Amino acid sequence: RRPSRDELLEGLNEPQWRAVVHEGAPLLVVAGAGSGKTRVLTRRIAWLISERNAHPGSVLAITFTNKAAAEMRERVEELVGGRAKIMWVSTFHSACVRILRKESANLGFKSNFTIYDAADSKRLMTLVCRDLDLDVKRYQPRAILNWISNAKNELQDADEAARDAENDQERTYAEAYKVYQDRLRQANALDFDDLLMMTVVLFRTFREVRENWRRRFRHVLVDEYQDTNHAQYALIHELCGNAMEDLPDEPGERVPGAELMVVGDADQSIYAFRGANIRNIMDFEQDFPNAETVLLEQNYRSTQTILTAANSVIGNNQGRTPKRLWSDAGDGAKIVGYVGDDERDEARFVAEEIDKLTDEGEARAGDVAVFYRTNAQSRVFEEVFIRVGMPYKVVGGVRFYERKEVRDALAYLRTLVNPADQVSLRRILNTPKRGIGDRAEACVDAFASRERITFWEGLQRAAEAPGIASRSLNAITAFVEIIEQLQQMVEAGERVDVVLEQALTTSGYLKELEESDDPQDETRVENLAELVAVAREFADDPQLGPSADPADADPDAEPGDAPAPGLIDFLERVSLVADSDQIPDAPEGEEAPGMVTMMTLHTAKGLEFPVVFLTGLEDGVFPHMRSLGDKPELEEERRLAYVGLTRARQRLYVSRAIVRSAWGAPSHNPASRFIDELPVDLVDWRRTAAEQTSWVRQDLGRGSGAAYSGQLTGRGRQQMASRFSSATASADASKKAMAARDIPNLDPGDRVTHDTFGLGTVVSVEGVAEKAVASIDFGADGVKRLLLRYAPVEKL
Ligand code: ATP
Ligand code: MG
Repeated sequence: RRPSRDELLEGLNEPQWRAVVHEGAPLLVVAGAGSGKTRVLTRRIAWLISERNAHPGSVLAITFTNKAAAEMRERVEELVGGRAKIMWVSTFHSACVRILRKESANLGFKSNFTIYDAADSKRLMTLVCRDLDLDVKRYQPRAILNWISNAKNELQDADEAARDAENDQERTYAEAYKVYQDRLRQANALDFDDLLMMTVVLFRTFREVRENWRRRFRHVLVDEYQDTNHAQYALIHELCGNAMEDLPDEPGERVPGAELMVVGDADQSIYAFRGANIRNIMDFEQDFPNAETVLLEQNYRSTQTILTAANSVIGNNQGRTPKRLWSDAGDGAKIVGYVGDDERDEARFVAEEIDKLTDEGEARAGDVAVFYRTNAQSRVFEEVFIRVGMPYKVVGGVRFYERKEVRDALAYLRTLVNPADQVSLRRILNTPKRGIGDRAEACVDAFASRERITFWEGLQRAAEAPGIASRSLNAITAFVEIIEQLQQMVEAGERVDVVLEQALTTSGYLKELEESDDPQDETRVENLAELVAVAREFADDPQLGPSADPADADPDAEPGDAPAPGLIDFLERVSLVADSDQIPDAPEGEEAPGMVTMMTLHTAKGLEFPVVFLTGLEDGVFPHMRSLGDKPELEEERRLAYVGLTRARQRLYVSRAIVRSAWGAPSHNPASRFIDELPVDLVDWRRTAAEQTSWVRQDLGRGSGAAYSGQLTGRGRQQMASRFSSATASADASKKAMAARDIPNLDPGDRVTHDTFGLGTVVSVEGVAEKAVASIDFGADGVKRLLLRYAPVEKL
């Protein structure tokens, strides 16, 4: 299919089409949220293939999530047809996996390497800490891994990290890095950060390999460029930099770099904590001296009200380039604000409001998104939504692929393709319990190190290992047999779902769960059934696998003659499924009302919804407690707020709670400064703090909501009325307990006592009278920021 030029440029404004048809020099498209950056990138791919005759296999497009990749591929296919299938549209990580699978021999590992995700890495690091005899109080596996991750994102290997270590702690971290890396290598495994770093190392070390990939990719396009880290930046340079300039002395052929287009918005950079570097986008024109820049200024997503609000908030960040972003969608509805008595009341308001919107035909549940700062905040919304029968979906949180039983099942599969993968192998060695104890495991381990063989080979030769009781030895032999039989199935090319089912039965795993009385185990069986269904779907049609990313992408291959998808492909996809991949697509052609989507603000990047609820807008929640005293972090939180606000198309709600129970103890948080940064005349406050009829004294216990007598309509009314009557009763009690408070007059250094946290020392006080907020150090409970008007503190 060859679309006409008009079709390719249809619905684009002037700067947008200039970006689409641009040729040659590196191109940067910078623009605020909703201005069509992703749309331009997608159209440009279609343009390259259709008008400039680029081979689809020569296109590499990078998106932030697998879901975004699938959507982009689909859009391009709609425009240019099935030949688009062989282009690479993927995340950085997926692209690197595919490159490394082909080139792994150069780097000295096998192409069937396992990818360790965060949980696997943590298990491995725990083993490393034990090996090094580290004091777990001082050296937590998670902290060490964080440090290593930063080093890897900066492309530092263990030796370089050791060289740069500045104190004893860092030297120990670097030592752990080295051992951890050795262990990964023994297991023929790579962690997430390795995928990027190894690819860069590959290109830098083996020039001819790099030149081959340069020959292959003639067009590189990157979405969400503001969130690239140094390793990703380096990778782009390897593929797109001017080959004549770097390493001028080195002999050999030089292939010019690919044509590069990046799109992004510095105001939406929200992944600094994972090593993203906002300078990458800010310095693009310096990094690529001949670069051209296109600015987009019209927003097509949101009403002017929403845009003005978002611009007003982000305007408080310093050192940014101001943007003129406008919309001709009209002013639309005002932003609606709500101050809840507590988080339950806030959640109830959200549920009632959605109910009202759907009853009045203003929106369907599937049009609505609820955002919050941290995953844990979803729980209250879930509880309330379940009670009122509001269908919802949580994106992120305890993810399917992180559940224990799913991980166990995958560990079986990983062991089959790569028995050198110790973490997986040891995970299932005695799961379900088959009488292989720690002692027997240690004997095999010792034997394997002495013989310089893998742990798996140690198991196979366990009979030679000294010190293993004969009962354990029998159990090990039986286990080895089970694994070997399953391996034969894999080698014979058996379907993934069949292998998985067989593994779950012959291992006895399923039986153990089925015979258990624990109701949780019933859910586990269901989850495993779900996993088998995922595998079946994948085996039937790899396009529908856990993440739609067509299998082979050899540029010379025709669609259809890709090799049969195997277990390795399946595992690869599963390990790369990111948070946003769980957003279900609305069933096609159905008038389904859908489900409310709940997610953290970080997960919301790049998405849009007709109705958005931005919740928990309290200082200490959002902006996050951690960021309060730190300007760069506070600015990152503000960018996160900007991302949240700009997801909304027509309606935007902002809400907060006066009292919130955090870690079991209620805290009284002041309004988020981001609320103060919204233009006053754009917000219609349904309920303000001053209008609070009651507030819940924390000694009345958490979870007891205060009264809310909002109007409910239709189906929701009866449900809510009955479900909430108990909450209302306790609210009456709280009303009685309400008393006028004197606001204590505090100065830094004053000693105070708090009903819950006990003795504390005032660190600082901001604001006066009604607005006075004190930071108080409660020792073991940490430093709390409290609005003195509500906080039960007394000066001593
Ligand atoms: P973000 O910064 O949030 O990633 P973005 O700049 O990538 O946003 P898109 O998601 O590409 O923006 O576009 C936002 C919305 O505007 C989409 O619904 C898109 O289809 C629509 N849109 C973009 N350009 C136009 C246009 N020229 N005419 C009509 N609609 C457009
Ligand atoms: Mg976008």
